Amino acid sequence: MSVIEEERVRGGVFKDINPEDEDQQPTVIESLCMNCYENGSTRLLFTKIPFFKEIIISSFTCPHCNWTNTEIQSAGRIQEQGVLYTLQVKTKEDMNREVVKSDSASTRIPQLDFEIPAFTQKGSLSTIEGLLDRAVAGLEQDQPIRKVCVLSVTV
Ligand SMILES: [Zn+2]
Repeated sequence: MSVIEEERVRGGVFKDINPEDEDQQPTVIESLCMNCYENGSTRLLFTKIPFFKEIIISSFTCPHCNWTNTEIQSAGRIQEQGVLYTLQVKTKEDMNREVVKSDSASTRIPQLDFEIPAFTQKGSLSTIEGLLDRAVAGLEQDQPIRKVCVLSVTV
C-alpha cells in the first residue's frame, strides 16, 4: 500500500479529537473483567491528537466490581527518530500537567536518578503525578513475595 493510500485509509477512521463531533462515538464491546471475571464493557475510541498522532483509547469498566482501566495505544507508525521533552517541575501545580506517554517512551527524573524504562508501562493519558503513582504501584507490586524470597536466602 502506498503512503498516499494509507493516509486515505487512516483519514477515514482517525479524526482529530473533538468532543463536539457526534460521529466520534466510541465503539463498545463486551469483554471479560480481569478483576472479577464477570462481563464488563470496553469502549474503544479511534482518534487523533492534533500535532501528535493517531491513537486508540480503550476504557474498560465493570458494573459488577467497578474496576476501571484506561489505556492508550499508538496507532501511528513508529517515528524514525525519537523526541525529547523536558518539563521543569517547579510548583505543585506542575504535577498536574497532562502527559500522553506511549509504551515506547521512557521517563527520567535526573534529580532522583529515577527512570521508568520504555515498555515497562502501558501507554497512558495521565498527569506527571499519575505517572509517578503508577511507577510506585508497579514497584510495590509483589513486594511481600520478594521479601519472603530475600528472607529464605538469608536464613
Ligand atoms: Zn469486575
